[in-house]
Amino acid sequence: MSKAKSSDSVKVVVRCRPMNDKEKASKFEHVVSVDVKLGQIMVRNPREAGAPPKVFTFDSVYDSSSKQIDLYNETFRPLVESVLLGFNGTIFAYGQTGTGKTYTMEGERNDPERRGVIPNSFEHIFTHISRSQNQQYLVRASYLEIYQEEIRDLLSKDQSHRLELRERPDTGVYVKGLFSQVTKSVKEMEDVMKLGNQNRSVGATNMNEHSSRSHAIFIITVECSELGVDGKNHIRVGRLNLVDLAGSERQTKTGAQGERLQEAIKINLSLSALGNVISALVDGRCSHIPYRDSKLTRMLQDSLGGNARTVMVANIGPASYNMEETLTTLCYANRAK
Ligand code: ADP
Ligand code: MG
Repeated sequence: MSKAKSSDSVKVVVRCRPMNDKEKASKFEHVVSVDVKLGQIMVRNPREAGAPPKVFTFDSVYDSSSKQIDLYNETFRPLVESVLLGFNGTIFAYGQTGTGKTYTMEGERNDPERRGVIPNSFEHIFTHISRSQNQQYLVRASYLEIYQEEIRDLLSKDQSHRLELRERPDTGVYVKGLFSQVTKSVKEMEDVMKLGNQNRSVGATNMNEHSSRSHAIFIITVECSELGVDGKNHIRVGRLNLVDLAGSERQTKTGAQGERLQEAIKINLSLSALGNVISALVDGRCSHIPYRDSKLTRMLQDSLGGNARTVMVANIGPASYNMEETLTTLCYANRAK
């Protein structure tokens, strides 16, 4: 996709995590370098000494020393701000398992400096509300998961129940029967997130594996009502979708069979459907946006394109053994531009 087409409504940023202790101990080579000023990521192939590195350019790039709060202020805050004004917005974390998707979205709850965009958005929203004077706000939270193209309400008591997508001419696409919790404080939001995360692990024999194969979507709806000069109440509603995507690693490894293979195919399909939708939106010339190709894109249809804003964070690791997956992620992210 040509760079000139990239619009303000879709931003793609790349974040490279630091080497972990295991990688350091194994003395893996760094193959990724990050030029924050130029917004460039360079990937060097250690097996091709002397060959020029592959270079990718994005809206912003973040190196291993990047702070959660810097990502928030530079990249996420404007999107959340627009939700407070009544627009829809979606933040995706994309990347191979282990590269920092959950770190970027949730971070470490007990360390304020390492809190991710989800808890930082709670603070932002409720601080905004506490400072407002002539508006009244109603904030609601929902939390769901898409696994194998099936939707599960992470706040429901019955975790075996599956939800369906429906469409109405007036309100658009919605998840029928999805629970939404009215929340009045940061603490109440955190409790919703905690409950959802607990439910997410219900029935999963291996939580790591499960989370790498499913999309988790935290939804915050902000309704604001204000008395207009016409003496009538005006209501505007903004929706914030916070999406921790399934791992982007190639799932169809040789040997996968039966249910496992079906599962792998579905994950790859939904991630490529998302890539297709975002690149069609960025391209701007496409009259047909293929929302219907997956539950994820269909569910988010009203929050992708139009007046809505989207940020995609592509997460990568720095070490040589991840090089292939890193290049695949960068190509995916580059295509979304
Ligand atoms: P994913 O959700 O993509 O599978 P995680 O978010 O669980 O990956 O990250 C894997 C590990 O790397 C975690 O222990 C996490 O704390 C750590 N990590 C990821 N990104 C960063 C970062 N930018 N800075 C410090 N630690 C990170
Ligand atoms: Mg994760």
